[in-house]
Amino acid sequence: MSEGFVSTEEGPTVRCLRLSAQPWPHAFNEFNRLTILAEDAPDGHRLFFSRKIPSERLSVKLIKKWVKSCQRWHGEDCEEPLTKSVLEMPPNFRVIDTWARCVVQAPPHCRYLTLSYVWGPIEVFKLTSSNIKMLAGPGGLKKVWHCLPTTIQDAITLTSSLSERYIWIDSMCIIQDDDADKRGLIPHMDLIYDRGFMTIVAATGDNANAGLPGVRKKSRSCVQMVEELRPSLRLTCPKHLTDLLNNSVYESRGWTYQERCLSRRCLVFAHR
Ligand SMILES: [Zn+2]
Repeated sequence: MSEGFVSTEEGPTVRCLRLSAQPWPHAFNEFNRLTILAEDAPDGHRLFFSRKIPSERLSVKLIKKWVKSCQRWHGEDCEEPLTKSVLEMPPNFRVIDTWARCVVQAPPHCRYLTLSYVWGPIEVFKLTSSNIKMLAGPGGLKKVWHCLPTTIQDAITLTSSLSERYIWIDSMCIIQDDDADKRGLIPHMDLIYDRGFMTIVAATGDNANAGLPGVRKKSRSCVQMVEELRPSLRLTCPKHLTDLLNNSVYESRGWTYQERCLSRRCLVFAHR
């Protein structure tokens, strides 16, 4: 059991007990950590407990709450870019406008998300010198929507569900058959991830059709084990992000790992 002090806005500081069990030797035990369910913890003290994972769809409301909490409590640590680079964004820096459904020149200092994912051995639809004019027109993306890999479709859908307008995705924002365009952007990928507001990390599967589990109906299948000790006292065993990522193709690629490290905030999809 660990304990901590939780400051409340109006009242005095209260002591909070957090139940967890760590069996030994945990290297041989799948359930290396147990916690009570957040829903069974008192109001205002649920932050560090595992919550019940809705089986079908992710909760956009919950993600917005995480972002708000990050902005409120971490302040500059997460708001400021990791590097104090004075470099300006490259002039050919484009983003996907998820509201107008097209590829646009990034407005100055716009807030944008980024996607970090694995292309894998599939044919990925790309921005090229022959389709850029069509994709830059309002609604241009709709015309090729069915050609986009599932992960990219889900990332665009999620961005707009989060009420965010712009997202940067390499295959759709760099003209893939234009060497000058590539030269202008690829060396600045670190800056692009560093300046992004949040990175969506697609760490399930081994290709760009893996999708983001939970974004579309019935796309999530993770099973959460919950044991009820008595009414309103349930235990669960959360999986650690490092354990989930350790066996992933995503984590085995050097550049995706770099992209994640360069990002200020990450929304990681690691559960199927
Ligand atoms: Zn934060």
